[in-house]
Amino acid sequence: MPELPEVEIVRRGLQRHVTGRTVDTVQLLHPRAVRRHLPGPDDFAAAISGRTITGARRRGKYLWLPVGDDAVLAHLGMSGQLLVGDPARPLSSHVRARFTFRDGGPDLRFTDQRTFGHLAIAPGGAELPAAISHIAPDPLEPGFDLTALTARLRARRTGIKRALLDQSLVSGIGNIYADEALWHSRLHWARPSETLTRGQITRLFAAVEQVFTDALDAGGTSFDSLYVDVNGQSGYFERSLAVYGRAGQPCRRCGTPVRRDPFMNRSSYSCPTCQPRPRRARW
Ligand SMILES: [Zn+2]
Repeated sequence: MPELPEVEIVRRGLQRHVTGRTVDTVQLLHPRAVRRHLPGPDDFAAAISGRTITGARRRGKYLWLPVGDDAVLAHLGMSGQLLVGDPARPLSSHVRARFTFRDGGPDLRFTDQRTFGHLAIAPGGAELPAAISHIAPDPLEPGFDLTALTARLRARRTGIKRALLDQSLVSGIGNIYADEALWHSRLHWARPSETLTRGQITRLFAAVEQVFTDALDAGGTSFDSLYVDVNGQSGYFERSLAVYGRAGQPCRRCGTPVRRDPFMNRSSYSCPTCQPRPRRARW
């Protein structure tokens, strides 16, 4: 599942390739792609045709394209891709929606093999769509408030990794980057959040920011070959992962084999030496 860096790379591509362009037609090839748009596919197409995209924005793993006061809101789900290319190229069977532009240039295609992603129109949502206003700012947003978040974390009674994944506390962090940031800051994933010092939380979020920045520089992590940028290119950050997906391989800091624990139907990867299990654990 794409996390913040992968979605940010898609946002940058959209910013470069569709900003300032006027939509000509919208073809919806699979109604599931707009299932969250209750007035239906025809309404979706009619509402966007003829409108000019004025930017590309993101909060956490959501993207939106402002059109006037409204916006087209997108979530890539497990396998969604937003691809820009020659409008004459063949239409693959996974294309769910296609936007053409009045300038006759590259079109925009939403493809989604597993159909967990979706598109919707957010009326009045150019600044921040109402459907995602409950999602907390992500660590790369100017509105991210580490002091307020620190107070909330220290008031919670939960494990730190579960808190990192809670999109109402902080958005955009998923399983991969949570494990990486915890390893960088030498914290075990089950550490009770109320026992963390302010300094530890500050170092943890500095690590989150660093891991995100490094992943952006590498074009993101291509964990399952479905994540690509708007030009269909995949990133190579998985080569730099310290613990995620490396069970049994040596810790890049101390050489101890990386440990994998079951966690919320998934896994947590950590180093038993650098990240000792806390006496009291919460998950
Ligand atoms: Zn280690």
